[in-house]
Amino acid sequence: MDLINGLPDGVWQPCPRCAALLHRDRLARALHTCPECGHHLPLRADDRIALLVDPDSFVEHDADLTAADPLEFTDRMPYPQRLARARARTGRADGAVLGMATIGGHRVALVVLDFAFLGGSMGSVVGEKVARAAETALDHGVPLVAVSASGGARMQEGVLSLLQMAKTAAAIRLLRDAGVPYVSVLTDPVYGGVAASFASLGDVIIAEEGTRAGFAGPRVIEQTIRQPLPAGFQTARFLHEHGHVDLVVRRQELRGVLARLVGFCAAAAGTSAGSPVATAARRPSRAPGHDDRPERAVDAWTAVGRARAADRPTVRQHIERIFGDFVELHGDRWERDDSAIVGGLARLDGSPVVVVGHAKGRDTRENVANNFGMPHPAGYRKVMRLFELAQRWGVPVVTLVDTPGAYPGLAAEEGNQSAAIAETLALAAGLRTPVVAVITGEGGSGGALALAVADRLLIQENGVFSVISPEGCAVILFGDAGQAPVAARALRLRAEDLGRLGVVDEILPEPPGDPERAAGLVAEAVGRLLRQLAGVPVEELLAARYRRLRGYGVLAPDGTATGSPVAEPWKEGAHV
Ligand SMILES: [Zn+2]
Repeated sequence: MDLINGLPDGVWQPCPRCAALLHRDRLARALHTCPECGHHLPLRADDRIALLVDPDSFVEHDADLTAADPLEFTDRMPYPQRLARARARTGRADGAVLGMATIGGHRVALVVLDFAFLGGSMGSVVGEKVARAAETALDHGVPLVAVSASGGARMQEGVLSLLQMAKTAAAIRLLRDAGVPYVSVLTDPVYGGVAASFASLGDVIIAEEGTRAGFAGPRVIEQTIRQPLPAGFQTARFLHEHGHVDLVVRRQELRGVLARLVGFCAAAAGTSAGSPVATAARRPSRAPGHDDRPERAVDAWTAVGRARAADRPTVRQHIERIFGDFVELHGDRWERDDSAIVGGLARLDGSPVVVVGHAKGRDTRENVANNFGMPHPAGYRKVMRLFELAQRWGVPVVTLVDTPGAYPGLAAEEGNQSAAIAETLALAAGLRTPVVAVITGEGGSGGALALAVADRLLIQENGVFSVISPEGCAVILFGDAGQAPVAARALRLRAEDLGRLGVVDEILPEPPGDPERAAGLVAEAVGRLLRQLAGVPVEELLAARYRRLRGYGVLAPDGTATGSPVAEPWKEGAHV
């Protein structure tokens, strides 16, 4: 690759982090990362483009767009003079490069900020190029890729540069409304007005390794709070941990990751562009090979034990077995990445889906890390973000349910666990794309239900689904946790009970000792149902989903009393 990154006149350059003396050619071969310590050095926009797109595929637009000086601004030198210097130094008219290219053979609209031009600051030209990039993506129906590196808004253009934040956000909003995908790539550094506008609005946000990003910079914050900041503050890892970015990617892998994402988007656009209309079955048949002869039915307490068994496949294992090409996405974009929820982009029989599930662990260490599959509010906000992403991109959602319930803890209550679940239920009810849910283990309470509002609800033979854990029910209704087996029977939580109550559409057999085959049966059923649902016009889909949700519950024939076959805890004054 022919990189022209600005080395000083010399052939040798010290690594800013580890001080290793690096030869220009060696550095270029390593894409301007330090071969000794991995530190990522700055890249000029042209080098960045060469790194990301297919060779010779980039066609630049509006290269000559130039800034005016509406404020007649002068600091240490007049703004026009400052611009002239930056132009001479960079060979660029302003701080952004806009054009079309292909990545992995798929067309994209691309805009790349150049930090070497006045710190990548966003004035009228940069804002205009970002907006034009979004409009180009919209016109061509191709994904937008924006690569940011910026200190923020350009002060020399005053409030007009502040307004570029609103302009770029409005342009991205058009993409969202039209379902055109947008991938935002953050490269060191991204601050201020760029961070607080288009750079943070990606459907998927990637931070290049070593990137620092935030609204206010560390010096400003330290002056304000008069305390030293923690190590690693605002680094890519920090952003990932706090749920601000989906992925942290090394420069060497960036093109490959983008190619996968853009390929997924192309496949999604292909599937949503009018597949042949199939008729959804009014009442899906039971999965082939299933029967619910009484001798197969196990005791409810045994069923609970099986659903919770430590060796039962986790949702992560199911994802590996059922889907291909999984790209895990992270974070709620607010404050956290809740590891009790796993989700991302995947393929089922080659077709794109968004998959979301509860993540228990395979052992104690993993279980502790994942909070035993019990999400916090941040987990449900992550679910909602992924649901909305699926809706915008026009791909169906598959959920895999396996949780004892939402986490009952102090921080979860402070974060409004109730509202997080409630908003997820409401969003799922109106989601303008097909949703198929599979209970693969424990379906515990509202925390499970948040992922079980669907056009079709399936359950594996040894799964359970219940308003409360049998232990919780036993304590409330019997005053004795030891009565859990009795409570389990009363709750009718087994797969066959749920089938009889009309709660689930299909019960998926689990051949004993063969989790691979069990996963294969899940894949077969989900794939079949998604193919049926794909042909249903969205208004019909939503009407049917509403009828389905509206139909839950049993009333006595005269409509005055509940005929629910489950226990009636409200009569005991208990609420769950
Ligand atoms: Zn180094």
